[in-house]
Order: sequence, then C-alpha cells, then structure tokens
Amino acid sequence: MLPPRDDLHFLLFDWLQAGTLAEQPAFAHVDRDSMDAMIDAALDLAEAEFLPHAAKSDANPPTFNDGRVTIIPEVAQALAAYRESGFFGMQAPLDEGGLGLPYTLAAAIAGIFSCANVATNGYAFLTQAAANLIREVGSEDQKRRYLPALVEGRWFGTMCLSEPQAGSSLADIRTVAEPLPDGRYALRGNKMWISSGDHEMAENIVHLVLAKIPGGPPGSKGISLFLVPRMHVDGEGHVGVRNGVTLLGLNHKLGTHGQVNCLLGFGDEQTCIGELVGAPHDGLRGMFVMMNEARIGVGLGAAMGGYAGYRAALAYAKERRQGRAVNERDPATPMVPIIQHADVRRMLLRAKSYVEGSVALCLYAARLIDDAKADDAAAQDAQALADLLTPIVKAWPSDYALEANSIAIQVHGGAGYTRDFPVERLWRENRINAIHEGTNGIQAMDLLGRKLLGDGGKAFGLLSARVETTLAAARHDSALAPLADILSARWDKLGPAIQAAGKAARTDLDLALANAYLLLDAMGHAVVAWLWLDQAVCAATVLATGEPSASRRALLLGKQAAAQYFISWELPGKDAQLERFTAIDPLCRDLDAALL
Ligand SMILES: Cc1cc2nc3c(=O)[nH]c(=O)nc-3n(C[C@H](O)[C@H](O)[C@H](O)COP(=O)(O)OP(=O)(O)OC[C@H]3O[C@@H](n4cnc5c(N)ncnc54)[C@H](O)[C@@H]3O)c2cc1C
Repeated sequence: MLPPRDDLHFLLFDWLQAGTLAEQPAFAHVDRDSMDAMIDAALDLAEAEFLPHAAKSDANPPTFNDGRVTIIPEVAQALAAYRESGFFGMQAPLDEGGLGLPYTLAAAIAGIFSCANVATNGYAFLTQAAANLIREVGSEDQKRRYLPALVEGRWFGTMCLSEPQAGSSLADIRTVAEPLPDGRYALRGNKMWISSGDHEMAENIVHLVLAKIPGGPPGSKGISLFLVPRMHVDGEGHVGVRNGVTLLGLNHKLGTHGQVNCLLGFGDEQTCIGELVGAPHDGLRGMFVMMNEARIGVGLGAAMGGYAGYRAALAYAKERRQGRAVNERDPATPMVPIIQHADVRRMLLRAKSYVEGSVALCLYAARLIDDAKADDAAAQDAQALADLLTPIVKAWPSDYALEANSIAIQVHGGAGYTRDFPVERLWRENRINAIHEGTNGIQAMDLLGRKLLGDGGKAFGLLSARVETTLAAARHDSALAPLADILSARWDKLGPAIQAAGKAARTDLDLALANAYLLLDAMGHAVVAWLWLDQAVCAATVLATGEPSASRRALLLGKQAAAQYFISWELPGKDAQLERFTAIDPLCRDLDAALL
C-alpha cells in the first residue's frame, strides 16, 4: 500500500505551502510542476520496484555463508533502479550532482519508499544521512573523496554508535582510535546492531563510527567521529583493498528482515584505518547531524508503516462481509461489508487520526528544517522549533502509528493474525521505531531536560504562539470553534506542568525527569491535536474557495472528521496523565526494585 497521491498533495501544497519553497534561492529550480513530477516518479518506482518484494524479503532474511552476506536479488535491483532515478542524491545540492530538493519534498519522497518497503529503503536512508553528515562536518578532502559516490548511490553508508554494553549510554562506548603517524587512526572495538552493516550491493560501505581517542576526557565529551570505509579509499576517491572491518555475526530481528543488521568488529583480524571527522572529542556533535535527521526519518518511517497498515485495513473492511445491521431482523439478507459496522469505523477513524496525524507532524518538522535554512529573520525560530519537536516527531509516531498497525490487525479479525495478509508484517516492522535512534524513554528525557527546561521556555513560547494562531483561525469557523476550546484548555495545562518539573529540577533533577515519558506522551497528543486543527482550518478554506471534485471533497471532509475525532475523543484522555506528571509523583522513582 502506498500513501495516496491526493493526501500528499493536500499536506504538501494546500497545508504546508511547499510551493513557496521555490522562493529560496537554493530551491529556485524546483517549481510546483517539478515537485508533482517527483512525487509521481517516486510513487511509480515504489510500486514497481519496492512494494513487490516486501513480503518476500521478510520471508527470506539475509544469510551469511562463506564470508558473504546474501540478500534476495530484488533488494539490489530496487536500489539500482532508485540509483538510476537519481533519488540517492535527492537532498544533495545541484553542484554535487544531486537533485537539490527541499527537505520537505525529500522527506515526502522518502516516506513513499518507506511505506512501500521500509527494509529496502533503509539502505538509501542511511546513505543519504551519511552524505549529509560528511557535507556538514567533513573536511574538504573528505567531501571530495567520499561525497560523489554516496550521492550517486554507488557506495552506501551506515552509522555505528551502539556497542553490546552501550546503547542508550553512548558515554560508555569502548571502541578506541589510536593516532597513527600519518594523521589517520587505528580503530579497535565492536559495534552492535549496525543496520546495512555488510553486504555486496555497493562498491563500498562507508561506516561513520564513534570511538574514543586515548587520553581524551571521560564520558560523552571524549567521543570522536571517524570515517571508516569497508574498502580503503585513496587520495582520488578510488576504492582499494579491504580495510579491517569484519562481520562477526548477523542479528535475527522481529522485522525489517530485508535490511541486514550486524555485529561488526573493527581491527579484529587486520588493522582498521579510520579518518577523523571534525575535531577530536567533538564526535557527538557531528553524529547528531545524522541522528537528528535520522530521528525525523524514524518518525516518518513509523508514520508510513502505520499508514500502510491503515490503508490495508481500509481496503479489507470494504471487501470483507460479516454480519448485518443490528436492526436488520431478516437473516436472508446478504451480510454487509464490515466497514458498515460502527465499531469498525471507530477503529479505522482512530487509526486514520494516528497515521495521518503522524505524517502531518513529520512533514511539518521537515518544513521547519527548510525554513531554518532560509536567509531570513524567521530561520532561527524555525530551528528552535525543529529542535524542540524532534523528540516528539521521533517518539509519537513510533508509539501511535504502531498502535494503528495493531488496529489494522484487529480490523482483519483472525486473518490479521496470519501471514496471508501484510498487516502482521507491518506491525512487526514498525515495532523497532520506539527502540532505535534513542529509545522513546530517552527521547522523553531529552524533551523535558534539554528542550523544555534547558532553554528557559523560549522554544515552547514560540510553539505556543503558533498554536494561538491556529486557535484564532479555528474560532472564526463555528464548526471548528468547539475543537479550538478543547485544545486550548489542554494546551494551557502544559505550561504549569513544565514549570512544576522546573521547580522540582532545582532540588532533585532525578525526580523531575522520572516521569518525563508522561509529558512526552501528553504533549505529543497536544501537538498532534494542534496540527489536526490546523489541517481542519486549511480544509475548510479549500472547501470554501473552490469547487472540489467529489474525491477531493471526501478527502477534505475526512481530514475534518479525523480532527474532530482526535481532538474530542483522544486528547481529553490524556488529562489524568498530565495531572500525574504535574504532581511530580515519586511512585516509580522511589519504588523498591524488589517489589517488581
Ligand atoms: C533493528 C535495530 C537496528 C539498529 N540500528 C542501529 C544502527 O544502525 N546503528 C547503531 O549504532 N545502533 C543501531 N541500533 C541500536 C539501537 O540504537 C539501540 O538498541 C538503542 O539505542 C537502545 O540501546 P540498547 O539496545 O543497548 O538498550 P538499553 O540502552 O540497554 O536500554 C534498555 C531499556 O532501558 C531504558 N534505559 C536505558 N538507559 C536509561 C536511562 N538512563 N534512563 C531511563 N531509561 C533508560 C531504555 O529506554 C530501554 O527501554 C539498532 C537496534 C535495532 C534493534
């Protein structure tokens, strides 16, 4: 299942006004027509090359034989077609040979491929992120030697942070990098869970590796970032002999089977040479270039995985016949499609509000990233908002689009629990998103500790101002005004909640952060409710100003129905949770572990 073209058009062009991005000099070459053409090309390619092998690669995970990883050939074939279409370089500027697309559009395109086949898309996603990191923090020499092949998609990228003993706590990594006389480094250590870590589908694999240079400061301040190619790269950017990176084993995962995941050894059998990226001991800052983008990508991947499940459930509910209306007494009448039962429509509307709300959240964040790069006064505010929202963008879809995948199974009844339908695979594939790129528990502490308390409330003030603008617009519409009142009452409770945590933090930071997840969850709901209201306002404007076709009218009214559902049925459900957070309840912090 792919995201419907009409929905992407509504989100990008009616709501986010992506057409105005062409006013930025960097995107002057991307007008509305070319944006449309890119989306069409992505939908066509995803349908032809990515979608068809999603189930096959799930059923046939990679194997490791005779020192080589074997992956079903359709994955390489799809990535070759992706390469030929230039999508590896969609975010790279024109002077690098890329397509120079704004991130808003690139994110939507990445979402299309992810929706079709998240595992195969994973190779492209990490390659693009690696190129972006090198462009941002690499030396001129590294850019010259590494970027062309990554932008073209001849070489693939990975990110190597985690180790068996250090996942959430990167300060505790043990991989070391000893300086060599020629200015390079010899790396020794193991990296766990490395997605796309070893395969034969690219001429080279560029690992971006976190390691510690001996003698550096302890903890996360002593982490440096290294470029470690699988095959050595000479001064001209040509591939040479093997470097000392060894595949120690494959991880056998719950989902995303098509994307190989490895335990890698560095310097195990032969010297492993790496090049320092950026300054020594400043590696986390560089890696955050990759991780922040990866976090928006994870949110979008989760949203799109949920979207695929929702669309599958919607199609099934229109076909599957079961039972009759409660007030139909004649058993001789034909059974009705299950979508005619109110409870099935409830499930579908709930799933729709989660997945389309998640897609909107992620694309809104992508637009902020573009706005932050503009040469105007609003750019700084856009960056502050993007930073604030990133933990929510990563975590909320990975919790709630996943719930939509579970609902999709429920809509299928017993059939949903079998491998005959894609919904169980989509649920398994989506389950990773709450775990990787920083677990949702870690995201919650980042949101509260760094983003809300760390900047003295500045970014939250900017966000609240945007919410106020939406509320004011909604209050002009009698149908939307009641929704504005519900949202406004909830938004007003966030400030006191954050203040309560700030007060607690002055004497006991541990206690202040103990219930951070409650805030992440409740604030995530409030943010998504705001974006739903904003979309409902936009839909009302489009309905009032034009004469939409029947299908477009249904799409716009569907947005308003989802907004109504989410704001009036879902949002108030978080009240008790926010109250518990504001009370700074010590229950979990002080609970004796022996009682669990
Ligand atoms: C399929 C898959 C793909 C991955 N891809 C990559 C990759 O490409 N590159 C890479 O570097 N890594 C990758 N990872 C690793 C991933 O980022 C880590 O699994 C994740 O960061 C969690 O680390 P961990 O597994 O060590 O769990 P732990 O850190 O041990 O966490 C276990 C639990 O404890 C909680 N916890 C831990 N510390 C705290 C704390 N201080 N406060 C509160 N709660 C805490 C966590 O939230 C979690 O619920 C991947 C993992 C998987 C499963």
